[in-house]
Amino acid sequence: MANVELKKLKKVYGKDVLAIKEADVFIEDKEFVVLVGPSGCGKSTLLRMIAGLEEISGGDLYIDDARVNDVSPKDRDIAMVFQNYALYPHMTVFENMAFGLKLRKYPKAEITQRVEEAAKVLGLTPYLDRRPKEMSGGQRQRVAIGRALVRQPKVFLFDEPLSNLDAKLRVQMRIEIKRLHKQLQATMIYVTHDQIEAMTMGDKIVVLKDGIVQQVDSPMNLFNNPANKFVAGFIGSPSMNFLQGEIEKTEELEFVSGTVRFGIPNELNLHDKLSPYIGQPVTFGFRPEYLYDKAKEKSKQLSVDMDIIIDVTEPVGSEAYNYFHFKGQEDLTFCFRSDSAYDYQSNETITVGLDVARLRFFDVETENRIA
Ligand code: ADP
Repeated sequence: MANVELKKLKKVYGKDVLAIKEADVFIEDKEFVVLVGPSGCGKSTLLRMIAGLEEISGGDLYIDDARVNDVSPKDRDIAMVFQNYALYPHMTVFENMAFGLKLRKYPKAEITQRVEEAAKVLGLTPYLDRRPKEMSGGQRQRVAIGRALVRQPKVFLFDEPLSNLDAKLRVQMRIEIKRLHKQLQATMIYVTHDQIEAMTMGDKIVVLKDGIVQQVDSPMNLFNNPANKFVAGFIGSPSMNFLQGEIEKTEELEFVSGTVRFGIPNELNLHDKLSPYIGQPVTFGFRPEYLYDKAKEKSKQLSVDMDIIIDVTEPVGSEAYNYFHFKGQEDLTFCFRSDSAYDYQSNETITVGLDVARLRFFDVETENRIA
């Protein structure tokens, strides 16, 4: 097994398409790392550079402390699982899984042993004689994973492997891949555009935007301590709410945006971080799930209060997403997640609280998190 290190890794397509700008990431042995970001952010490019399928334009790539920039894909000891499965339709499941080993001239007995072992792990033993077209999407994806498994590579790479599956199967396969990771204790690098997949699967997540690594962190740290407004908005569902306003100084510091006004308690270190912004615009960020109805729920923590006007309520089982606006700001919509039993009506005004520890502020220009 292996660690993987990206040092100022860069990719330029043609003359001037900068797909990856100086990515620095360290992936530890046995870690499950997810590369996530919106379409076109460069995640496939990064994965393909690690696989050796894409030439590296700058920087260094290390697998187990050996520089592999110029090592061919087949000598990197990695295996990749693709979104479209890339199975050979005329071969059986057994032959598909055995193919890579045959090419590498493994002895027949060892091929059989490895394929049977992988089939057992993946629940494919009853299907070894079938052809891909006789199998479901989930089973085909399992064969594709099996083909990587038999190679016993140092590193597994997954390129959006679940995109072609329906929602229910996706959830099931994501659990299976996690289980496989635990069982194999292998280094895995997984690409997805789906932040929920990233959050549920990754030990560590690399968030990319426009070819630039925004943050490398654990799922909970990305959620609670995002480095900037992009990460804050990308991670979490429904997304974080953002409201632009200004920091004012009266007796204490206050955040003000139209009719929204709340004091920022002096004792918080928030205060020090926000002081340089007095008289300046800032973006206030607050998550839908951290707002609570002051009349119905209690919190032991110090909170700030805001009056909100409900527009539309969307019940989703036990919870509801309530879309609302602030008085005098009808054109801006925010979300508040509540117990669906509260059954709010349109135009109802309620007071919501937000624990002060949940307040987030971002610089309007750089979009970096201030506090
Ligand atoms: P993602 O996987 O995050 O959707 P990609 O890595 O596929 O993003 O692409 C990153 C950027 O590089 C995009 O702007 C894309 O248009 C560009 N790109 C990808 N492949 C090529 C290529 N072969 N030639 C030119 N530009 C490319």
